[in-house]
Amino acid sequence: MNYLTFFTFLVFILGVAVGSFLNVVILRQGIGKGRRKRSICLSCGGKLNSRDLVPILSFFWLKGRCRFCKSKISWQYPLVEIFTGVLFSLSFWSVHLMSPTSFAIVNFLFLSAIFSVLVIIFVYDLRHKIISDWSVIVLGVLAFSRLVFLNWGNLAGSNFLLNLLSGFTVALPFFLFWLLSRGRWMGLGDAKLMLGLGWFLGWSLWLPATVLAFWIGAIVSVSLILAKHINIVAKKFAIFIRLPKIGLKTEIPFAPFLIFSALFSFLFNFNVLGAISRFLL
Ligand SMILES: [Zn+2]
Repeated sequence: MNYLTFFTFLVFILGVAVGSFLNVVILRQGIGKGRRKRSICLSCGGKLNSRDLVPILSFFWLKGRCRFCKSKISWQYPLVEIFTGVLFSLSFWSVHLMSPTSFAIVNFLFLSAIFSVLVIIFVYDLRHKIISDWSVIVLGVLAFSRLVFLNWGNLAGSNFLLNLLSGFTVALPFFLFWLLSRGRWMGLGDAKLMLGLGWFLGWSLWLPATVLAFWIGAIVSVSLILAKHINIVAKKFAIFIRLPKIGLKTEIPFAPFLIFSALFSFLFNFNVLGAISRFLL
């Protein structure tokens, strides 16, 4: 095992541990501070010991059920842990490939913190359709600080100013959507999220990442509507297909698409507009 593989593995474990903590933050945000801990089963109140709390592994040992009451444990727990681990590893790779110095370490810490906040916003918006103010504020502060860090010594340069502008440029249309629709098309939370994401993505990626989010959002929405109609037809002909119950009126949270596209574009330096123009030309 070479040292890069070894460190990637260590960083993955670190990410998994942080993911385990993020699960607690997501849980507490939902039911009030400090009221419940991860160390108690939410169904029966049974006390979980350290064997029940090993990230990822416990879920599979216990076959996804509480040791005492056998109630189901949410897949959210292992998934958040695995994804945070993967994100940390990928950010380690991306900064290592750039420059293996103390600069890279600080950059890695910034990225890990930004990814952690994005995981919280992603899961929370998916489950509760709310983006909390504190999470977008933390994201904004982190993304802005990273921008200052990356451009330190050249804060009057065009690179810094363009990247600074990209946050406002991408947040503005979301803000106008919110204003014009009085919150029906787009929540104000999405606009606040885009300010941080714009600073994080920078000038070269904010537009392709946003376009990608709209496309994925459209594909998922249409698939869900189709699934609903297939369900109706299946019922008429008494064919039993069990697809998720989602109505036309169901509000689909948009932040998960924005966050997924931002992470994908950033980590793989993927510019969907560039890829399409290369394909067409
Ligand atoms: Zn239980």
